[in-house]
Amino acid sequence: MTETAAPPPAAFAPPTRFAVPGRIEVDGRVAGAWQPATLTEIRRETPRASTFRLAVPGWAGHVPGQHLMLRLTAEDGYTAQRHYSLASGPDGSGHIELTLDHVRGGEVSGWFHEVARPGDRIEVRGPLSGFFAWPGDRPALLLGAGSGVVPLMSMVRHHRARGLTVPLRMLVSARGPEELIYARELGTETTPVFTRRAPDGMPVGRLSAAHLAPLLARPPAGGWEAYVCGSNSFAEHASRLLVAAGQPVERIRIERFG
Ligand SMILES: Cc1cc2nc3c(=O)[nH]c(=O)nc-3n(C[C@H](O)[C@H](O)[C@H](O)COP(=O)(O)OP(=O)(O)OC[C@H]3O[C@@H](n4cnc5c(N)ncnc54)[C@H](O)[C@@H]3O)c2cc1C
Repeated sequence: MTETAAPPPAAFAPPTRFAVPGRIEVDGRVAGAWQPATLTEIRRETPRASTFRLAVPGWAGHVPGQHLMLRLTAEDGYTAQRHYSLASGPDGSGHIELTLDHVRGGEVSGWFHEVARPGDRIEVRGPLSGFFAWPGDRPALLLGAGSGVVPLMSMVRHHRARGLTVPLRMLVSARGPEELIYARELGTETTPVFTRRAPDGMPVGRLSAAHLAPLLARPPAGGWEAYVCGSNSFAEHASRLLVAAGQPVERIRIERFG
């Protein structure tokens, strides 16, 4: 019998083609620990979406774009867990904000929209995701649809709160103006795209190459980092448009809610 030595393990070298500069390290101990959170405020954003402000005394802080895991526990011990993006910027206030769409028949979003009251206690664990995070260090092109605007708004809020000068642009798709989440807060950095009903003088239609062309024809120094968030179909559509307009695939980060 001949024995052949196993080949020596190759030294680890991150494949440069798939390297993701800017990936944020997630602390496993923080991400794995459930923490109590108390609901302090509920704000309606649209007929279907509301923002829920939570006091989380042990919150470790987050980077815009990250999300958390939330857990509801019934009196009989039954639990339900879901992921939710952080809507607030990292402001060190000991509070965080989530914005939830009311999904028809949805277990967790239904509880928040129909039952939850200030003072209610839940549990959260996070922040999670090192990939869909924007520390504010590079030009960001944000594309969102529906509640996909939530993690992108955290980036916009961070950009404003810190007075960052790095370019940031956001395109948000909504069915109509009444469904545009955070409408009152959106500024000149944002272009809304209305797919069913638009205010007078504005076109109705999907996000298209025409929306992206002016931004991608003359990218800022260093190029855009693109962040796409929404349903599976929106993520697919928006990322195809980005690639067709010349955005490098490895500089497109996608978060799917669907
Ligand atoms: C990383 C991540 C971040 C997320 N961030 C947010 C956020 O910021 N805001 C937010 O509102 N949601 C967000 N979601 C979606 C969220 O996790 C839940 O899936 C959503 O709230 C539905 O949960 P539910 O318990 O209410 O519905 P469920 O009881 O799980 O589902 C009820 C019914 O609705 C369908 N359904 C489930 N989810 C959706 C949906 N999103 N749209 C349409 N139909 C659906 C199901 O197929 C089912 O038939 C995120 C998801 C991920 C993976």
